[in-house]
Amino acid sequence: MKVFGKVQEARADIPVIGEFDVVVVGGGIAGVAAALAAARVRGTRVCLMEKVCALGGLATVGNVIIYLPLCDGKGRQVIGGIGEELLRLSVDEVEVPNLRISKVPACWDGNGTVEERSKHRFRVGFNPITFEYKMERLLLKNHITLYYDMRFSTVVKKNGSITAVIAESKAGRVALSCKAVVDCSGEADVCRESGEKTVSIGGNVRCGWYYYIDKDEKVQLRCLTDPLRIRKVDENGNRLKYYSFRGDLPEQVTAQVLESRKMMMEDIEKIREKDGGNPIPIMSPTISTFRMSRRLAAKVTLKESDDHRWFDDTLGMTGDWRKAGPVFCLPLRCLAAVKTANLITAGRCLSSMGDTWDVTRVIPTCAVSGEAAGIAAAFLATNDECRSFFDLDIPTLQKYIKRHNGIIDKGLVR
Ligand SMILES: Cc1cc2nc3c(=O)[nH]c(=O)nc-3n(C[C@H](O)[C@H](O)[C@H](O)COP(=O)(O)OP(=O)(O)OC[C@H]3O[C@@H](n4cnc5c(N)ncnc54)[C@H](O)[C@@H]3O)c2cc1C
Repeated sequence: MKVFGKVQEARADIPVIGEFDVVVVGGGIAGVAAALAAARVRGTRVCLMEKVCALGGLATVGNVIIYLPLCDGKGRQVIGGIGEELLRLSVDEVEVPNLRISKVPACWDGNGTVEERSKHRFRVGFNPITFEYKMERLLLKNHITLYYDMRFSTVVKKNGSITAVIAESKAGRVALSCKAVVDCSGEADVCRESGEKTVSIGGNVRCGWYYYIDKDEKVQLRCLTDPLRIRKVDENGNRLKYYSFRGDLPEQVTAQVLESRKMMMEDIEKIREKDGGNPIPIMSPTISTFRMSRRLAAKVTLKESDDHRWFDDTLGMTGDWRKAGPVFCLPLRCLAAVKTANLITAGRCLSSMGDTWDVTRVIPTCAVSGEAAGIAAAFLATNDECRSFFDLDIPTLQKYIKRHNGIIDKGLVR
């Protein structure tokens, strides 16, 4: 990013429009899980702000409609709690195979054997519109204050803690006072503004899952993406056009959106040439579709060698959507900020690296980390004795999570 100089912002008194225990920034799957989990801790006042006008983030607004598995691929369930609740909420009355809308596999809904369960992973495909709506109703039912069209801007910090979150809204800049903050922005925006160490990577490709009407006037879903390990030269050694974007640079975000949309329109043209008729695109992603862009650098950064490693501060677990076998623990130390006592992350921007980032970024794992972060934030906000996430009593947190159907089981990583 080219910087041409600096300007000083005129300071103004910003109106405080709400006083909350927990403020959640970002209403993707991680943010929904975090807000819900925090609100269910008795007496916690929770606010969730979201810059677009829908919940679900990439999962719904990005049309990424596969709720990847809650199991380890060997027939054992490793994700419960809100991760399972949201999966079941996403399921519709009907199955529509060409739109990948499916129900929970029968072996996971009744008394399936381990052998059956190891053949069918515990995953579903959903309709983004109904899932958005159901999540909205669920948050409102849990008395969460929801702000759409509100974009996180910065924080006010005092003695190493955030005392207010500043956001841009239709009423100009507004402040929300808070006792704890959960960063579910997907891009660690709050961490960055709070002075935390963050890590950014490029390598994001063009992609856009979109719906279109085919030549027979039937709605179809197209899961369009460049290969993740894209070839840079052809078989003759000639350079191929290589797309690689970073999600934390304004010009690259715009370029990724423009190139992805162009790819979609070229794809429609190819469908027309192949199938004839007049295919029409009807619903494309309305947010940028970055897989991994910026994350917190926390005390613990999960990596591949942490497969089957137990951490004493484990607050949730996950399998690996790509293959059967691996099980990872998510410790508090990969979620909590280092320098900001009352800031915690969840979802795409928790602290994990390399191939393990690819594991922790998916929908079910975002729900697990969201739930863990939301509960920890509510515990911190409602306990005057604790100043930082690292002061919380871990066994109490684990007990609470397990009582609410979360899975924390040392046996799964033995
Ligand atoms: C092309 C593609 C295909 C994928 N396929 C699958 C798949 O099949 N299955 C699967 O499980 N996962 C898949 N994933 C991954 C998965 O969809 C996401 O990683 C996951 O949904 C991320 O959830 P999140 O809540 O952490 O972040 P996000 O979904 O990114 O949500 C972040 C939310 O925060 C909001 N926000 C951001 N900044 C601000 C701000 N400053 N102020 C206010 N709000 C803000 C955003 O608008 C967004 O709603 C895929 C991802 C991509 C890109």
